[in-house]
Amino acid sequence: SISEVNGRNVRSDELHDRALERSPGGVHSNVRLRGPHPFIRSAKGAWLFSVDGRDYVDYLLGQGPNFLGHAPDQVIQAVSAACRDGLIYGGQHEPEIQAAELVCSVAKWPDMVRFSVSGTEAVQAALRLARAATGRTEIIRFQGHYHGWLDNIFVGEHDGTWGAASAGQVADHLRPCHILPWNDAELLVEKFEQYGSRLAAVIMEPIMINAGVIEPLPGYLETVRELCDRYGVVLIFDEVISGFRIALGGAVERYGVTPDLATYGKAFAGGFPVAAVVGRQDLMCRFGTGEVNHSGTFNSSVMAMAAVTATLTSLRDQPPYAKVGEHGRALMSGLLDIAARHDVNLRVAGLPAAFHVSFGDAQVRDYRSLQQLDLARYERLAAALVDNGIWLAGRGVWYVSAAHGARELDAALTRFDKTLEEWKVKAE
Ligand code: PMP
Repeated sequence: SISEVNGRNVRSDELHDRALERSPGGVHSNVRLRGPHPFIRSAKGAWLFSVDGRDYVDYLLGQGPNFLGHAPDQVIQAVSAACRDGLIYGGQHEPEIQAAELVCSVAKWPDMVRFSVSGTEAVQAALRLARAATGRTEIIRFQGHYHGWLDNIFVGEHDGTWGAASAGQVADHLRPCHILPWNDAELLVEKFEQYGSRLAAVIMEPIMINAGVIEPLPGYLETVRELCDRYGVVLIFDEVISGFRIALGGAVERYGVTPDLATYGKAFAGGFPVAAVVGRQDLMCRFGTGEVNHSGTFNSSVMAMAAVTATLTSLRDQPPYAKVGEHGRALMSGLLDIAARHDVNLRVAGLPAAFHVSFGDAQVRDYRSLQQLDLARYERLAAALVDNGIWLAGRGVWYVSAAHGARELDAALTRFDKTLEEWKVKAE
């Protein structure tokens, strides 16, 4: 039965009040502060179930990790079996070799792997490696790309100026960091002419999923690759979201440009907290000599390695990409059709496995042009969609999993239609 009074989720409200007593904001990641409020009881496949007895078709997927759907049987079984032999050894074990071998063979291009717990850490390891290898400090990162929440990489825009995005951040730590608009090859050539020989690394999401799910313009990644080669700069692709999601070989496979280092996380471990920095042997070997430090008590835990191996084996042997593509395409066009019927100028862009929904019709190629869309209106729509049983965050990204099928498509489109109908009646 659903515990609801006047549309409010009674049990969730109680839990929210209780959470606020002991955890700031009632959450454990600031990303969730403005996220959906209902409390989750359980999740399976493409569905979330709340403590109030409601169900949600999930297109947030834990911000990406649940690419096989929630609680995938093959991963749960592998991890449960592995756990019986112990959880963390403080010593080497064969499953970590197997997981590293699989990452390299499935992604195809990397020579070596270092596992860590979060994408944030994997990015730090990559930056440190690039600085050690080049003997340089400065880097280029791009507006709207997200590479974790630490002082030397976390940025935001304030009145048109880019810089530290959080109170308490040491702004000095961003001094070596050039924050440029993405997808502008001419600008990048200019900047490399100015300071290319001082750069240790260029880091980017090769498809900017965190802001707008924007694809690289034709030739852009090739230009970046060529500039990095010419100036001896390490190219880092942050594939924490795109890796194993937009294709088995991630953005490298889709766009045909290979970086020197990359970071993975999310989709490659079926929902378990694992990330990795991967790359060329001549760079990665600096960790092995001890010259460059990368460490972590929980790195390559038995659980994490079992999760990576089970997930990548499944993605390799039963590739879900055609199914995900089919669902994503049907969903994208279904949303547009319904919106057109309601006379709403919805904008849907990106790839079937990760797409962006907003209002407006601007030509979007970078963070600034993305701001021409009505993103605030979408945030209100997302809140209304959650009320009607579609689980989403406010930033506009929809993720599709291998567990989404015809039943989920039907539920999502019906609930979307109902939401727009209510909007029309209420005039928002
Ligand atoms: N890089 C990218 C591209 C990401 O999307 C994220 C997380 N959203 C991170 C790095 C950081 O990963 P984590 O949250 O696991 O620290």
